[in-house]
Amino acid sequence: MSESFGDTPWSRRGLMRGAAGLAVAIWAGAPSAQAQAEAAIPVVASFSILADLVRQVGGDRVQVDALVGPDADAHVFQPSPADARRVAGARLVVLNGLGFEGWMERLLRNAAYRGAVLRVTDGIKPLKAKGHDHHGHAHGEADPHAWQDVQQTIGYVQRIAQALCSADATRCAYYRERADAYTQVLQSLDQEIRQAWATIPPAQRKVVTSHDALGYYAHAYGVHILPAQGVSTDSQPSAAGVARLIRQIQREQVRAIFVERLADARLIEQIARETGVRPSPIPLYVDALSPGDGPASDYVSLMRHNTRAMVEAIRGAAR
Ligand SMILES: [Zn+2]
Repeated sequence: MSESFGDTPWSRRGLMRGAAGLAVAIWAGAPSAQAQAEAAIPVVASFSILADLVRQVGGDRVQVDALVGPDADAHVFQPSPADARRVAGARLVVLNGLGFEGWMERLLRNAAYRGAVLRVTDGIKPLKAKGHDHHGHAHGEADPHAWQDVQQTIGYVQRIAQALCSADATRCAYYRERADAYTQVLQSLDQEIRQAWATIPPAQRKVVTSHDALGYYAHAYGVHILPAQGVSTDSQPSAAGVARLIRQIQREQVRAIFVERLADARLIEQIARETGVRPSPIPLYVDALSPGDGPASDYVSLMRHNTRAMVEAIRGAAR
């Protein structure tokens, strides 16, 4: 039988089969791909993490555009006239809410946008920001970073599916099916994060970060997060506040200090110098995905990356 592999008629038949298969693919594929591209509904998401969630639910039936892309800071974003045009062309705009994108209401007005708007945190019971007086923020303000708790993100996904069903009713079953499948992935991710932290004694689960973005993560996964800044990346801590944090790090023997990908490293470097705790060389991704070739190019990778980085930093320091 083995000689048939070198047999010319067999090879020719294989080639013919391949060519015929290709012809069928082109014939059947081209019109439907074109129809799909025409029919994909344009959705604008405020930032990269939400854009990923919309893509997970919408698949190839949505054309998602993120206003604030990977490795960019939504807290301090300044929309351009081009952004207003992108919003004006959308059928659905998805934003986080709770003050995360303070620039969005004005952008929607400037774009004269009349389509549907989904605020994915509508209806949740927000956590309060830590409100330490060194944050320079009003006490008791809502913390917008709810996606840092995977269970909250499952709520985001359900609301995204509902909004896509309203915007594009004929494909509702498709959106629901994808949302359910992605929810299963998120439930596994949630379990994985819990199992990772279960390997660290509760008293050692302490991490210093740049801005107050991991409150929901801390609440969900039983980790004590000590942020150097308030809930926005542009909040300025006072000298007294920084001194207090340094004393707390020393008193509680915190051994894991992180710089966030988008934050100014100088404050964390100062804290590291004064406490003698070396900051982790691995940055945390909290408010934006990494570009496609980075370690946090989608939501699931981002949560995995941060969890692994924090758990390994604590474990390494304990050795
Ligand atoms: Zn933030």
